[in-house]
Amino acid sequence: MASRMVSGWNLPSSLKVGAARDLACLPLAWLQRLDAEGLTVAVLQEGQSLADTDVLPTMTPERCRRHVVQAQALARAAIDEENRALSLDPSAPADDFASAMARRWLPDRIRENLLPRLDQAGIGFSVEVCREPVDLKALARSKQIPDEEFSTWRDLLLELNGPLLKVSGDLAQAAQEILMVPYAFHRGRAVSEVSRDNYATFDSMKVRQHRGIHSWPNRLIMVHEAFVKEPADEVGNYRVLVHELGHAMDYLAEDLLPGHRATVDGLFAADLEAARRGEVRFLTPRSADNPREYLAEAVEAYMTRRVGDEQDFYKPENSREDLQQRNPPLFEYVRSLFES
Ligand SMILES: [Zn+2]
Repeated sequence: MASRMVSGWNLPSSLKVGAARDLACLPLAWLQRLDAEGLTVAVLQEGQSLADTDVLPTMTPERCRRHVVQAQALARAAIDEENRALSLDPSAPADDFASAMARRWLPDRIRENLLPRLDQAGIGFSVEVCREPVDLKALARSKQIPDEEFSTWRDLLLELNGPLLKVSGDLAQAAQEILMVPYAFHRGRAVSEVSRDNYATFDSMKVRQHRGIHSWPNRLIMVHEAFVKEPADEVGNYRVLVHELGHAMDYLAEDLLPGHRATVDGLFAADLEAARRGEVRFLTPRSADNPREYLAEAVEAYMTRRVGDEQDFYKPENSREDLQQRNPPLFEYVRSLFES
């Protein structure tokens, strides 16, 4: 189960095993809960981005076809709405120049109207403003569509834009100067272009900087390969994934366990108050940031034992022993959480 939750592109088995091993430190019940939530751990190797992992869904022909029908309706609605707004606008400029300008920006307004509608429907088609006729072959090249996929892609694009597109040969003219593009290709896979561009912003450099990134809305943890190795670059025995899993447990516990949020917030507030009086129970500066970091750091401490070799150099102050000694109430709460 743990290794099924790990995603990556051409991931060497050593990295997959490494990430799965860190995941498997959690009690089975928690691992099962996180798996049921669809939590994925994406391991990025140097030079890769999140778009290279399975987290970026492939545009299957069925998915595409379903989205084409939905997108056609959404596009019609956006076009109607913006055209109506333009003709009804009481402050519409009376002079010809201003009204010509308003008309000129109409396609951009339609695009701005349509994009959030597509986004909300989970459709990652791109929308482009095309004032000039478009060479479909050149457009396909810019979307990295392989030659052998061109005619399938072209057919779908024509269907998607329907009567809004006048085509002669490979030259297409968009009637409303708006063109929807069904999908792009990335490393040989048909993918949503919007998602790809979005996912590509999470590249190995950024993830390495943060060591690990946790996004609960996406049920996703990203980690750089350097921190999955054992010992890891820069941090030795320290396990980046454990901290990120602590965040995931916190969010999930909020849904599952009544009182979780109030308990953690209460413990955090009490420790903050104690710190003001000069009694510092926080083991790390990070844990004093906010209740979420507080719990993630506590989970990290709870699952960390010093090995006793020269690789214990990173955050040696955040261990189970330290937590038990310096913050018994928090230790007890994390213990009860692990056993729940
Ligand atoms: Zn954190």
